Amino acid sequence: MCGFVGFIGNSNVSSLVIDALQAIQHRGQDSAGIGIVSENGFFLHKDLGYAANALEKVSYTGAGAAIGHVRYPTIGGGIREDAQPFFSRQPGVMMVHNGNLINFKELKQQLKRHSVNLSSNCDVEPILYLFCLEMMKIREEGHTVFDAVIALKETYKYIKGAYSVAFAMILDGKPTLVCTRDPYGIRPAVWGEKNGEYMCASESVCLDAIDFEIKGEIASGEAMFFRAGEEPQTHLIEKRGKAPCIFENIYFARPDSVYNNRSIYMTRMDLGRVLGEELIAKKVDVDVVVPVPDTSIPAALEISRVIGKPFSEGLIKNRYSARTFIMPTQSIRENALRLKLNPIKAQIKDKKVLLVDDSIVRGTTLKRMVRLLKEKGKAKEIHVAIHCPPVLNPCFYGIDMSVQEDLIAHRKSVKLGLGTKKVLDLKDQRQLEQAVAEHLGADSVTYLSMEGTNKVFGTERCAACFDGDYKVEIDKQSIDEIRNDRIGISCGFNRVNT
Ligand code: SF4
Repeated sequence: MCGFVGFIGNSNVSSLVIDALQAIQHRGQDSAGIGIVSENGFFLHKDLGYAANALEKVSYTGAGAAIGHVRYPTIGGGIREDAQPFFSRQPGVMMVHNGNLINFKELKQQLKRHSVNLSSNCDVEPILYLFCLEMMKIREEGHTVFDAVIALKETYKYIKGAYSVAFAMILDGKPTLVCTRDPYGIRPAVWGEKNGEYMCASESVCLDAIDFEIKGEIASGEAMFFRAGEEPQTHLIEKRGKAPCIFENIYFARPDSVYNNRSIYMTRMDLGRVLGEELIAKKVDVDVVVPVPDTSIPAALEISRVIGKPFSEGLIKNRYSARTFIMPTQSIRENALRLKLNPIKAQIKDKKVLLVDDSIVRGTTLKRMVRLLKEKGKAKEIHVAIHCPPVLNPCFYGIDMSVQEDLIAHRKSVKLGLGTKKVLDLKDQRQLEQAVAEHLGADSVTYLSMEGTNKVFGTERCAACFDGDYKVEIDKQSIDEIRNDRIGISCGFNRVNT
């Protein structure tokens, strides 16, 4: 998972992009980059680390189109090479993206046949070079918005997956910012305006951070073209449906962001309300509701209200440690957790605790947390409530859950003889919950049901990791390639899922 920002304005383009990137630092902490296209030419800088540090020496106070990026962390070789933006000198395009291409290897070979050799393992590179090849087929110089629309339509024919892309280039003789979204709108992209200047970004919180008015989302399969002082142009590239990733709501996005026209905070409260009702139906008996900070706080507040038990901050988060899910290896995640959370014994000692978390992917972090609350916090019982269904299926669309054997719900489900069902009915889910509770050392586990999830999100969404309904079809060979790449991370030879 990554985050991007695009800005076009009359002055201070670099500082606005760097400020906005800091608002989405949670989407990637490995590297940061910025690319600027102005009437003076092209500027590109990228480095390892947080945006504020990696880009601290960048200062361009003039006008132009700028794109910025924060990257999901990986380890091993190629870190700097994989940082975004990417730049193609011909015809002069800077590009960033968030997402994952499921046919990366095929595209790499296709480009090789045109003597284009990729210099990284990052998915945005084939998008950039395919687009540039199409642009150069149309004409060699003096490109227009119309050319870019045709080239994007051609590029979309080749690229398969989930992606939001922002790029900057000269079109019709003027610096132009473009933002596009995949045909199902799986990955997020929003845009906003202030005094005739425009910004697009992975999350609306970027726009809030610099006081821009949020105007809306880039629709599935559409491209928006922005120039300072002009009305934006919208062009349809290729639309197949609407399927925004619900994991953005559940875990990734900041609670103060708006996604798919709904407040993330309010959506998490809705998830808590429905889960609270399901906990009552299941007769889960607890004394106190404790969220795993910070993502699950809104859901825990609502669960506490629905089940009529007090809310308590029984776990305190060290604000200066990084998010464990987006750390590249299990050992790094485990070490980080020790520094990250500490129980307040006075709040949980001798109590039956309902520990609320957003999701269980691998289960390792939660297992340590349950032990921490029991051994250090002296809790009497730990009942876990998860505000999403079991993650049974891998994600091939840009969230780091592409190895099915890593998923604790899948592993336990296979062990229980539930086969390889892509979604469980409630009876099977309850069986799975018992097995996961045993694994975690908890007294019980309750996942939000799929039915409950649909009450909150409806059915116009991507929830493939929960229900196995993959909007963009993927063949076995591509599944194996992605899986092997992700497994390869532990020895440093990975393809970059952003
Ligand atoms: S499979 Fe899950 S994590 Fe991946 S895009 Fe769909 S909802 Fe999001």
